Amino acid sequence: SAIELQDVVKEYVSHGEVVQAVKGVTLAVGEGEFFSLLGPSGCGKTTTMRMIAGFEEPSKGVVRLRGEDVTNVPPNKRDVNMVFQSYALFPHMSVWDNVAFGLKQRRTPQEEIRRRVGEMLEIVDLTGREKRRPRELSGGQQQRVALARALVNRPRALLLDEPLGALDLKLRQAMQLELKRIQREVGITFVYVTHDQNEALTMSDRIAVMKDGLVEQLAGPREIYESPATTFVAGFIGTSNLMAGTATAGVLRIGEGRVLVPQHDGEVSVTVRPEKIILSVDEPDGDLSVVPGTVAEVVYLGTYNSYTVSLADGAEITVFQQNAHDSTITAERGDSVWLSWQAQHSYV
Ligand code: ADP
Ligand code: MG
Repeated sequence: SAIELQDVVKEYVSHGEVVQAVKGVTLAVGEGEFFSLLGPSGCGKTTTMRMIAGFEEPSKGVVRLRGEDVTNVPPNKRDVNMVFQSYALFPHMSVWDNVAFGLKQRRTPQEEIRRRVGEMLEIVDLTGREKRRPRELSGGQQQRVALARALVNRPRALLLDEPLGALDLKLRQAMQLELKRIQREVGITFVYVTHDQNEALTMSDRIAVMKDGLVEQLAGPREIYESPATTFVAGFIGTSNLMAGTATAGVLRIGEGRVLVPQHDGEVSVTVRPEKIILSVDEPDGDLSVVPGTVAEVVYLGTYNSYTVSLADGAEITVFQQNAHDSTITAERGDSVWLSWQAQHSYV
């Protein structure tokens, strides 16, 4: 592994009280992987990153880089670099000098500096802007300078803490794809911190979803989305569509409906993704989960409609219906409808 955390804990003393920012995180990031730490504000993402970078020492546990114990090794001896949301560019220096700064400090030969800075500016698509000052650049361009500066020393891993947070939505989405491309091109391990689930799903090879200083689930984007391990993960990633109650012999009854929960008995919570649910006017046949409800809201979203359907027990379920087929039903507010889905799409 490029990076390993083993039972890492970080405690702070704040106003005489011990705060556990990270409560015991174990994870391994593969060489060349795009790995994200995803979770709400305050869950311990930044603290985890700072321990990987060496800006914080863990209270307990071990940090390894490529198998080597670096738990007490200072940041400048770790061969990892960090990029911050604030970019932290030198305002009085040109783009070129900002990127070249680290190499000059290490007394890299002139010719090599010229070659590596040139290459890096090409990768981040800033060729031709070498002489500009940071304030003469857009937010996205400044972010790319910060990235070039962090990558030009060829660190073994790059840590990025909410690096796109200051950008507006459109630019952020463009930069997400851009970052992913750059990461593939340079082949360096990226650890990316974000509280934005779409960002994490778009960019990552794997995601660690954090809550209250712990990792709730560690898996690829598809698995996190389609089989959330906990109710928290289901709710944090996308629409959770939570149904809960007492199951008997593998069936959870909701009003006149039945949710299939094979091999479960007793208290259960079930989630199903909006695009897996089929909306129909008549009660469907077959070996499906089938629940009746009333349309509470319809939102037209171009290629699909989003329906909010209220169930007998008060739960509200979101259903996405593609507008691509003539067979698509058009239900309106107040209509009685049936929701159905295959048992495999329920996560219990
Ligand atoms: P995130 O990056 O996920 O928003 P942080 O890692 O910044 O979360 O913080 C996790 C928790 O640790 C928060 O409750 C925060 O208030 C607390 N914390 C972080 N740094 C310190 C510190 N230097 N002193 C005291 N508490 C801290
Ligand atoms: Mg943070």
